Amino acid sequence: MYLSMKKELSSDEKERLIAETFRNYSEYLNPGFIGSKKSAESREVEWRGDGALMYDVHDKPFIDCLAGYGVFVLGHRPKPVIDAVVSVYERMGLYSQELLNPLQGELAKKLAEITPGDLKYTYYHLGGGESNDAAIKLARGYHRTINKEDRYIHVTFRNAFHGKTFGALSATSRPSLKYRFLPLVPGINEPGTVAEFNDLDSFERVMANVGWKTASVIVEPVQGEGGIIVPSDEFLPGVRAICDKYGALLHVDEVQSGFCRAGKMFCCEYTNVSPDIMTLAKAMSGGVFPISATIVNRKVIDAAAENPWYYTNTFAGSAPGCAASLAAIDMMERENIAEQSRMKGAHLISELKKIAGEFPGVIKDVRGIGLWIGVEFESEEFGNNVSRGLFERDVLTAHTINNPRVMRLQPPVVITNEQLDSVVERFRDTVKAVKAKAK
Ligand code: PLP
Repeated sequence: MYLSMKKELSSDEKERLIAETFRNYSEYLNPGFIGSKKSAESREVEWRGDGALMYDVHDKPFIDCLAGYGVFVLGHRPKPVIDAVVSVYERMGLYSQELLNPLQGELAKKLAEITPGDLKYTYYHLGGGESNDAAIKLARGYHRTINKEDRYIHVTFRNAFHGKTFGALSATSRPSLKYRFLPLVPGINEPGTVAEFNDLDSFERVMANVGWKTASVIVEPVQGEGGIIVPSDEFLPGVRAICDKYGALLHVDEVQSGFCRAGKMFCCEYTNVSPDIMTLAKAMSGGVFPISATIVNRKVIDAAAENPWYYTNTFAGSAPGCAASLAAIDMMERENIAEQSRMKGAHLISELKKIAGEFPGVIKDVRGIGLWIGVEFESEEFGNNVSRGLFERDVLTAHTINNPRVMRLQPPVVITNEQLDSVVERFRDTVKAVKAKAK
């Protein structure tokens, strides 16, 4: 039996597992991981998760403020979600593809109920990038089929992150992730099609040039990987109005902001904006089984009805994934996770702002929404050292992908107040130590 699958490990087995894991990473996975993961230096191997904590094989707890890049809103192994998946496994595996699956239908109905406006029809996928790729195809298909127009431009925003699959990567604005793979999808992120985020004048200027050729506008309601940038209340409604003026579809990417991370079930609720296409992933199934979704309104689905197989893939919409998602949404509603996210987030922001005041010249800004907080350091190096220092103090964090000067703090919303206060103390201690060393 593989050591990694044993229930209990002896001390010797733990040491063997650590050595083997390190060797397997070096020899059989991209060796670059070993150079870039903080856990590689100290050879920390994960073993189990519970609530806001991840434990290594020696049962050392880490407070997880990264939450799998936003997946574990409900913490690690939320019991109702695990129970739902196990109950499916007692009957079947993924799904047959040919027979109708009740869970697929139930989840689609639930998503129609909880998503804003007239969003109603769901396509399932396995990750955020895939759902965004499908959204790009759907938008082009809509204009070709319904409007008989050849629109292939997708207007995006500077510093956006939409994933690393081909279409999603095209819409992502991080050159270092893209330049080796050019050319990407035509019509996306080309000169004259990228607007400044949170700047309606800039967006209107872009649309004045390309609006009538634009299939969709792709926007995050809060730029997560761009550095946790929360726009003004006017921004998203303004984008909606300008999309309507040019007949462009509005695609809101709630892959990271959705499912209570930002203090509402969906971030669009803050401004009552109703997109034509919404993409969801990350926290959708409680971190227990991968599933993501592209949800569209009637006019978009009508265009896609001619061939329902355009946007499917083999593993999407599996029974365990749908069951996990139904149970996760139910838990979010029953336990008021959105409200918890707002309350705990407000507390954490105010404590971090106090620390910023205690160490002038080090922290440029503390900002966020819900329990999704960015700390912007004056220098990238200082931020990296803080992240490393926190790791040494058993707190997991990372910088935002497009803005390495910003450290994200996005723990599971089920984190206890004591754990949150402990994060604050460890953060203060780390900033003090890094500042002292920098002198
Ligand atoms: N869209 C947004 C807004 C994201 O933040 C991410 C990932 O961080 C993605 C899409 C890509 O999701 P995935 O990594 O599941 O492909």
